[in-house]
Amino acid sequence: MSDLVSIFLHLLLFKLVAPVTFRHHHYDDLVRMLYKVHNECPHITRVYSIGRSVKGRHLYVLEFSDYPGIHEPLEPEVKYVGNMHGNEALGRELLLQLSEFLCEEFRNRNPRIVRLVEDTRIHIMPSMNPDGYEVAAAAQERDVSGYLVGRNNANGVDLNRNFPDLNTYIYYNEKNGGPNHHLPLPDNWKSQVEPETQAVIQWIRSFNFVLSANLHGGAVVANYPYDKSLEHRVRGFRRTANTPTPDDKLFQKLAKVYSYAHGWMHQGWNCGDYFPDGITNGASWYSLSKGMQDFNYLHTNCFEITLELSCDKFPLQGELQREWLGNREALIQFLEQVHQGIKGMVRDENYNNLADAVISVSGINHDVTSGAHGDYFRLLLPGTYTVTATAPGFDPETVSVTVGPAEPKLVDFQLKRSTPQAAPKRRIPSSGHRGRVLAEKVQPRAARKKETMMKQPQRGPA
Ligand SMILES: [Zn+2]
Repeated sequence: MSDLVSIFLHLLLFKLVAPVTFRHHHYDDLVRMLYKVHNECPHITRVYSIGRSVKGRHLYVLEFSDYPGIHEPLEPEVKYVGNMHGNEALGRELLLQLSEFLCEEFRNRNPRIVRLVEDTRIHIMPSMNPDGYEVAAAAQERDVSGYLVGRNNANGVDLNRNFPDLNTYIYYNEKNGGPNHHLPLPDNWKSQVEPETQAVIQWIRSFNFVLSANLHGGAVVANYPYDKSLEHRVRGFRRTANTPTPDDKLFQKLAKVYSYAHGWMHQGWNCGDYFPDGITNGASWYSLSKGMQDFNYLHTNCFEITLELSCDKFPLQGELQREWLGNREALIQFLEQVHQGIKGMVRDENYNNLADAVISVSGINHDVTSGAHGDYFRLLLPGTYTVTATAPGFDPETVSVTVGPAEPKLVDFQLKRSTPQAAPKRRIPSSGHRGRVLAEKVQPRAARKKETMMKQPQRGPA
């Protein structure tokens, strides 16, 4: 009898957590699915909207965390963004599957998923372009699917060509010196971007994201920054060349983690193209300006890659299950990659948390900063590094750190205030001298650099 009861309860439970069916989800259906997962796992999820599309559809995010809605210091934030191109539908469906999977496995006390959710704050946005999706889905149903129908938003704009171009700045700075991180936005940036792009920019500025992937279709490859080629077009030809970031080795590893955990991406031959190891530098494939992954790297602490997941941008429903099984392990392993390198707190002598402190790693010309809670995260491959923390008004602190392959190494900094009189002035670390003469030199040097930049018509910011 008790066996029967137990079987009945098991069946009931199974029914309650029955998986998202393998079919395409229109907007209303997608919203229902997000709330269904939230209702199944209310204690570890939260649904929120980051804004609206041109046609007023919400850009919903499903968050997974042991404390939804709260940033816990030293717990990294990671995100997935799907369906930025409305006609690239697989990412949208995979992210719904992933949401259901995380919820279900957490409830089943799968130790790997419990650990992931307890140690990571995961943000999942299945669709960045819900308007484009509806156009693409309608075309699919009428069987008049053009290759590009529904790609753009409702204003006809390609959202992956719509972010402010910060590459021009960084290529100048990489060559001539200048800031290597958190490059500023143009003053009028809001008037230059679409509502979806603006919502995403405000989102990624308000969370201290560390790692991200942006899901696309039309090829099968993991694509890493930079997307924009350093070289100029030559006589109408689009000349592209490998354009690595200062974090190239790390980005290659992140891309390979996905491609090798994926069912077939790593094999390289897919959709008539060949990519060794199933990965590519964006610019060496084809150059694109104003893309989202470069923007994440150049304006925030977030390392984003672009995942091209299917030859067919809008796969048939019958293929969704196979695609989910081919991507499931890769989607989980990629999230786990946020737990590597170094992380820690930056504080002053009185244990006050210091936000926006700069963490520099010697030999890698790309700094990261501490978040609003004073915690920082620096993804690094295994190795020994010299790491320096700096903050205005404080003496820099430098340590040597050896990073292993598994856990992130905890490295806290406690910065001492510079001598009180000198605090408001900027110091020159390499010089033993202080005082008026050198302090004055600091400003003109910075100003001169800016001036030179403006004079370069080709290279300077537009
Ligand atoms: Zn795309």
